Amino acid sequence: MRISSIEAVALVRAEAPKAIRALNKFSAEAFKTRGGRLGSGMGSLLEALWIYFTNRALHNEGGDAADCEIGWLSDHEPNDFACVLRDAIWTPSTRAGELFRLEAKSMNLSVDESKAHFTELSLAIAPHDQLIILIWKWVEVDAWRFCPQVTEHLICPAQPVALLRDALHIARGGSFVTGGVCPDNCPGNPCLHTGEPLNAAGKRERKGGPDITRPSANVSFANNFGGLVRMLKTDSATARRIFRECRATDETAHEYISFIHRNFPSEEINQYTADEWRRIGKHAGLTVAKKSSRLMAEELRATTPGYQELLRDILKED
Ligand SMILES: [Zn+2]
Repeated sequence: MRISSIEAVALVRAEAPKAIRALNKFSAEAFKTRGGRLGSGMGSLLEALWIYFTNRALHNEGGDAADCEIGWLSDHEPNDFACVLRDAIWTPSTRAGELFRLEAKSMNLSVDESKAHFTELSLAIAPHDQLIILIWKWVEVDAWRFCPQVTEHLICPAQPVALLRDALHIARGGSFVTGGVCPDNCPGNPCLHTGEPLNAAGKRERKGGPDITRPSANVSFANNFGGLVRMLKTDSATARRIFRECRATDETAHEYISFIHRNFPSEEINQYTADEWRRIGKHAGLTVAKKSSRLMAEELRATTPGYQELLRDILKED
């Protein structure tokens, strides 16, 4: 019997630590360099290498090749991949021969704000489609030389992350083009723009949004939607309530939030009030008197491995 989508997802997830160890070993040899580079480019290279080492692991699975392999969606931008049946014809337009799709994102920890965006429309995501995030940084190899190393990764279902992203987009005053009421007055229903995000100012957030909602002659689209860190920011009581409800009720939302906040700790500190941080600290048995959010958060990270589970339980804002 052929491998199922669920089995293929589990297999790719199980092989990921091994694939990333191999990737890091290769990178330490091949990309060892003086200087290093903060700009874009390296992230895409690491994503491609992850595919290569995952496929190598799948080929060697238990001495026998697994029934699946990862291929590139040639017309997609940015990098999108699909896990496909090894011995079947693959037709990307109909998804025939596919087990699940995989959107790969990389984030450089040395750069203040990540440029990585997850912008796939919710309605284009199938139930088993996954998101993979590689966190990487330049690491010293010797006194003079550095190499890029992946420090942490997440593979999770893409749909719940998209739903969290969309809910917070609406809480921020944004909207989505709905069928039959397109700002371009398209005749079809649904038209090509259905599902496209518009920001609070009514401007399009993706290149594919309605022409009339282009932000300006110089800027094609606003490009805030789906920023992997930015999508979790909350600037109102409503947004914070939605954030907390999603985190409390959805396993993947919690996993995604915890992952981003572990790697971008200031975001986590700002998400909760000082009183809330002290409440969690008290619960974990720490002394809390007069401690700031930052101090409390740092202590919790150092002493209480499960502190993010405690954050998950905070529902009502103080
Ligand atoms: Zn339209």
